[in-house]
Amino acid sequence: MKYITKYKSPNYNSRNNSKIQLIIIHYTALKNTLDAVSYLCKKEKKVSSHYLISQNGSVYNLVDDKFRAWHAGQAFWQEITDINSISIGIELDYSPSGKNNKFSPKMINSLKKLIIKLKKKYKINKNSILAHSDIAPFRKKDPGKKFPWQSLSSSKLILNLKKLKKIEIKIMEQWFDMHNIHSKKKKIILVFSLIGYDTRGVYKNSKLYNKLISAYKIRYLNREDKIKKKSIYNDLIKHFFNYMLTKN
Ligand SMILES: [Zn+2]
Repeated sequence: MKYITKYKSPNYNSRNNSKIQLIIIHYTALKNTLDAVSYLCKKEKKVSSHYLISQNGSVYNLVDDKFRAWHAGQAFWQEITDINSISIGIELDYSPSGKNNKFSPKMINSLKKLIIKLKKKYKINKNSILAHSDIAPFRKKDPGKKFPWQSLSSSKLILNLKKLKKIEIKIMEQWFDMHNIHSKKKKIILVFSLIGYDTRGVYKNSKLYNKLISAYKIRYLNREDKIKKKSIYNDLIKHFFNYMLTKN
């Protein structure tokens, strides 16, 4: 896989000996690749990503993998808050309100190739390819509801959520009973936290709770507004069950 390496970002530091464990997918929300390169390489902006993929599928390598790029900001995943130290950040030249408001097939093709390469090199688990909105659900929406997660799961790069059998649903319900968790809201929050999401303060703060639900819907249901009222309970249980069975 060929990268464009002539642009480099000065915005990075050391990973503090942390192992690379996650891949975080973003969109730039900028006009085009040129603007994105200039933004991500400007010292004053204090942001960067390891890779940027253009609409025509070119892959720019802006920060070497071995360094800590600055793309996650305030974030949280599986009890870890310094996400930059343990992740690779990939920006996509996409803006929901711009002319570049489509994830082109060439872009997604390059993204998949890059993920395959990184996954192999750093032994990254299928559950560890995340949206910026997964690790910062209270602040971020990218890569947004149009991002083709389905295409990544068809290519077996991320978890493919299989429907549960009746017996499996029963096992989950018994598991909750065993742990004395009876309210639906508590079950939802517990599953969120076991998957990795930031649930600190969510139970008592309905605004945060709703943001978490919304981030989840964007990512896993790929439709935010249509089924605003539909409970995600069944989807979450299914997710958790599949998650527990996936090791790589
Ligand atoms: Zn982002």
